[in-house]
Amino acid sequence: MAERKVALVTGGSRGIGRGICLELAKVGYSILVNYIENLGAAEETCRCIEELGVAAETCQADVAATADRDLLVAFTMERFGRIDLLVNNAGIAPAVRKDILETDEASFDRILYTNLRAPYFLTQRVAREMIELLEARAIESAAIVNVSSIRSFTTARNYGEYCISKTGLTMVTKLFAARLAEYGIRVYEVCPGLIETDMTSGETVRTYYDGKFATGLAPINRWGKPEEVGRAVAAIARGDFPYSTGMVLHIDGGFHLRQL
Ligand code: NAP
Repeated sequence: MAERKVALVTGGSRGIGRGICLELAKVGYSILVNYIENLGAAEETCRCIEELGVAAETCQADVAATADRDLLVAFTMERFGRIDLLVNNAGIAPAVRKDILETDEASFDRILYTNLRAPYFLTQRVAREMIELLEARAIESAAIVNVSSIRSFTTARNYGEYCISKTGLTMVTKLFAARLAEYGIRVYEVCPGLIETDMTSGETVRTYYDGKFATGLAPINRWGKPEEVGRAVAAIARGDFPYSTGMVLHIDGGFHLRQL
């Protein structure tokens, strides 16, 4: 079994997931970098992690598929023998933004399967593994982090299926936080605002949000960076919130504040 604590990060190949992996490596975690198709990016994340002096492995798996989730957990256990932290980060946006009067069912299902069903059942699967490890005293503590979005509480009329998936994820955090506390497993929601990644790099999207910043979108009025989300996850991973579970960390420049 690995001596260092181990984090399983879904969608660790790029963007926020990579930022999380690197900040976790800085606090000493070995990391399983999951990806779905971009092996080159996953390998680049691993290379950066290893430069920080800790071990990393990649694992291709579609978190939306039950068999792939089983494979992902089995692979992590085979390589490292432990999982101390699960980060449900992998997520997708609708391929085409359609008004909610036009949303098609295929897009709705695709988004809900990846952004909501996957973290629910991966949490369930990994939690069982963590409980066994804790009861065997193979690990001292465990935590689970769900990466949601300001879309969990902010409507967008052309982004309905994404908003619903993230609102659901907020409840996933609450449910598992309440259920797993008795085992010493803490569950947190990290809620990012607008972060510079491939997901937000399309010209239309970038121009739209740049326009919003120009008129004062948030108290800290700029795009966020993946490492700023990563640092919140690293604080959780370090055990900085021992008397908290179900907590939401807003990494959004204060976007969530109501102002009058
Ligand atoms: P991104 O740059 O598009 O990266 C998405 C990551 O998820 C990639 O690593 C991708 O792997 C992986 N992925 C996608 N579908 C997957 C699947 N079915 N199974 C396994 N891995 C999968 O996205 P991001 O901006 O970093 O977003 C990361 C998370 O933060 C998402 O949950 C997103 O909803 C959330 N978020 C983003 C923002 C933002 O402004 N960017 C704001 C709030 C919340 P490959 O590299 O193999 O494609």
